[in-house]
Amino acid sequence: MERTKVKISTIMNAASKYNPQDIERKWQDKWAKDHLYEVKENDPRPKFYALTMFPYTSGDLHIGHWYAMAPSDVFARFKRMQGYNVLHPVGFDAFGLPAENKAIATGINPAEWTLKNIENMRRQLRTIGAIYDWSREVITCLPEYYKWTEWFFLKLYEAGLAYRGKAAVNWCPKCQTVLANEQVTDGACWRCESMVEKKRLEQWFFRITKYADELLKFDEIDWPERIKTMQTNWIGKSYGADISFGLDVPGIEEKEIRVFTTRPDTLYGVTFFVMAPEHPLVPALTTAEHKKEVEEYIRNAQRQTEFERTAADTEKTGVFLGSYVINRVNGEKVPIFIADYVLPQYGTGAVMGVPAHDQRDFDMARKYNIPIRIVVAPDNWDGKDLQAAHVDDGHMVNSAQFNGLSMEEMKSAVCEYLTSKGWGGKTITYRMRDWLISRQRYWGAPIPMVYCDKCGIVPVPEKDLPVLLPPDVEFRPTGESPLKDCESFVNTKCPKCGGPAKRETDTMDTFMCSSWYFLRYTSPKYDKYPFDKDKLKYWMPVDLYTGGAEHATMHLLYSRFFVKAIRDIGIVNFNEPFTRLFNQGIIVQHGEKMSKSKGNVVTPDDYVRDMGADAVRVYLMFVGPWEQGGDWNDNGIVGMFRWLNRIWNLASAEYTGKKVGAQAEKECRRVMHKTIRKATEDMERFRFNTMLSALMEFTNLLGKIVEIGSVSKVTWDEAIKNLLILIAPSATHMAEELWVELGNPYSIHNQLWPKWDKELASDEEVTLVIQINGKVREKLVVPVDISEDDAKKSAFADEKIKGYIEGKQILKTIYVPGKLLNIVVK
Ligand SMILES: [Zn+2]
Ligand SMILES: [Zn+2]
Repeated sequence: MERTKVKISTIMNAASKYNPQDIERKWQDKWAKDHLYEVKENDPRPKFYALTMFPYTSGDLHIGHWYAMAPSDVFARFKRMQGYNVLHPVGFDAFGLPAENKAIATGINPAEWTLKNIENMRRQLRTIGAIYDWSREVITCLPEYYKWTEWFFLKLYEAGLAYRGKAAVNWCPKCQTVLANEQVTDGACWRCESMVEKKRLEQWFFRITKYADELLKFDEIDWPERIKTMQTNWIGKSYGADISFGLDVPGIEEKEIRVFTTRPDTLYGVTFFVMAPEHPLVPALTTAEHKKEVEEYIRNAQRQTEFERTAADTEKTGVFLGSYVINRVNGEKVPIFIADYVLPQYGTGAVMGVPAHDQRDFDMARKYNIPIRIVVAPDNWDGKDLQAAHVDDGHMVNSAQFNGLSMEEMKSAVCEYLTSKGWGGKTITYRMRDWLISRQRYWGAPIPMVYCDKCGIVPVPEKDLPVLLPPDVEFRPTGESPLKDCESFVNTKCPKCGGPAKRETDTMDTFMCSSWYFLRYTSPKYDKYPFDKDKLKYWMPVDLYTGGAEHATMHLLYSRFFVKAIRDIGIVNFNEPFTRLFNQGIIVQHGEKMSKSKGNVVTPDDYVRDMGADAVRVYLMFVGPWEQGGDWNDNGIVGMFRWLNRIWNLASAEYTGKKVGAQAEKECRRVMHKTIRKATEDMERFRFNTMLSALMEFTNLLGKIVEIGSVSKVTWDEAIKNLLILIAPSATHMAEELWVELGNPYSIHNQLWPKWDKELASDEEVTLVIQINGKVREKLVVPVDISEDDAKKSAFADEKIKGYIEGKQILKTIYVPGKLLNIVVK
C-alpha cells in the first residue's frame, strides 16, 4: 500500500509561519550543546528513573520504536516538569543473531554491521527530540560492557547459580542454536518461527527455579495484571500429590512407579495408567505379545515434536503394554499404556488416567474401551454415565471411606492417608525449568570458562576479563560457532595449573546482557565495578519501565531473577528492578499489522521530514490509548499538524483585548484550570489521547477569544503561557520556539508544570450528606467528583462531625460517591 505523500506546503495555512524544518534541528542542537538534559546525582530534587526498553540494533527506527519511545519521553518530561530529577537514558541491545546471519550472508563483520546500525539509529533517535542523556549511552556488544556481563556470570557461578548440565534442549534448526524454554512459543522459535527440535547437549544453565516462589510474589511492584498472570502461569506452581503405584512384574526390580497429580481427589477413579514412550521401564514392562506394536508406536512418537505431541487438538492415541500397576488405595490392577502426549522430561514421565474427570483421559478411555468411573459427582448427578469428563467441583462417591467429602476436603484427606501409609503425599511442582543460556553462536558475550584435562571446569580469573571476541573469525553456514574453529581463541592456558586448556566456545544468551543494562545506565563509564555503588543506590530501582508486553516471560522474568540473584550475592540491596511497569500497544495500519511483506510499513523518517517530529509525536499520542495502540492514518497526522499550526498562529498573534467582558474572563480562566487539571490527571494515567483532546478544546476556545478580543491581555498571556507549558512535553520543539519568541526565558523545558485552582477546575458542586451511625449530622458542599479519600478528609475536618466522633472508635465508613458518607462509630 503506497502511502499518500503529504508535503507541508500543500497543507499549510498560507498565513502560518510554522515550519518544523526550521526549528527542530536548531533546538536539538542547542539542547545538546547546553547539556540541557544531562542528569547528575547531586541534585536537590527527588529522583525519577523512567526507562524505556532499549532497542535492538536492527539498523532502522521503525514506527514501533517511535511508539515505544515518544510517549515515554512525554511522560519523562512531565515528571521533570513536576520537579523530579529524571533519568531517561537510551542505549542499544547490540548482541544477537541477525548480525551474525548478516555476516554469514555478506561477510560483513557483526561488529562493523552493528556499529554502523547504531550510528544510523542514533541519528534517527535524535530526531525524536527526546530528553535522552546521551552521555549515559550503553552498548552491550562493547568490551567495556560485556566485561561486566562476563563478571556477573562468574559471580553466579561462584554462588552455585550457574551450572553446566546435560539436558534435552530446544534446538532451532534454522537459527542453528539452542533456545531457552521461554523462547519457544507453541513449539516454534521466537525469532524465526521454525518448529523447534529436541537435542541432548551439555549446556550452561542459570538456576532460576531456585527463585520460583519469590518470582510469584508481586507485592512490591505495580505491574499490569496481565503480565503478572503470564509470569505466574509460566512459573506454573501447582499443588498436588506424589503417589506411589505398586509394581509386581516378574523380572523387574522396581516395586513402584511414582506419579505427580494435581487431582489426588480422583485417585479412586483411576482406571488406566500412562507412561511416556521414552520411559526407561517401558521395554521391561512390555509383554511379548505387545512388543511389535509398542516398538512401532515408540518410533512414531519420536518423529514428532513436543508441540505436536501435546497440542490439544491432536487425537490422543496409546498402546497397552500388557502389564499392570497396582492402585494401592483399593488394590486394583490398572493396565499400563504408553501415549505420546506424556513427555519424559515433565514430572516422572508417568501419569494416572482418570477418564471421568479429565477430558483427555475420557477420550482415551472411549477409544480403548477402558471403564469410566465417577468419583467426584456433580451435586445434581442422576447416576447416569457421563457424556464428557466432569472436571468441576462435586462430592466424593465410589471412594471407600472418603465418600461424601467435598473435592477440596478429599484432596487433603487422601494426601494425609497416603502419607500415613508411606505411599506418597502432598507436593509442590513448577512448570518453569532452569534458564538455559548457552548459545552456539559468535555474536554474544563469551562465557568466561576454561576446560582443562587435569582440573576440569575452571573459571577465568576476574583480572583476565574481558574474554574478548576475536575479530578474525570466518563466518560459514555450518551451524557451529565460528569460535570453535578459531584456534587463537580456543587454545589457552589453564588458570589453575598453567597447562594447556580450551576455552568455552558457546556465548551467552543476549537476554543475559539485557538483564542488567538498567544498572549500567547509572554509571556507564565506570570501570572498577559494573556500576558506581553510590550512583546505583541513588537511582535504582527503576520507577517506571515501559515497553512491549511480548517480553513478559523472557526479559521481564529474567531481569527479576537476575536482580534477586545478585541481591543474594550482595551486589545490590533491592528486590525488584522495575517498580512500575507499563506496556504500550501496537500501531497498525488499516487494521493490519505492519510488515515489509505487506508493504504497509510506516517510515517515521518520511513524516518527520514532511511534517516534523512534533506532529509525529502528538499523532502517536492521539491515535489511541497508549496501552491499546491505534491505527495509523495519514489524515490523522495531517489533522494533528493542522492543530500545531493553529497553536502557532494563536501564540504568534498580536493580541489586544478589544471587547473585554467579565463573563469571558471567567470562562477563559475556568477552562484553563480545567484543562490543567485534566492534562495532569491524564498524564499520570498515560491517557495522552484524552489529554490532547482537552488541549484542543482549550485551543478552540482561544481561537474564539482571539477573534473577539474578549479577555484582557493579562488573561490571554497567561492562557497562552499555560497552553505552551502543557504542550511542551509533547510538541517539544514548537513549544520551545514559541516560548522563547514570546520573550520568556529559555528553556520552556525547565519550567514547572502548572497547578490548577481547585474551585475553578471543578465542574459543579454537590451537597454531600454526612451521617454518623445512619443519622444525618451534617451537609457539606463538595466538588461533584470528589474522591472517597477527599470526602472523608472533608468530613473529619468538619467541626460538627469532629464533635460526634471524638473519643470514639471508627469501625467503618460507607461512601456513596457524590451523595453520602456514613461513619460507623462505637
Ligand atoms: Zn529460529
Ligand atoms: Zn588445569
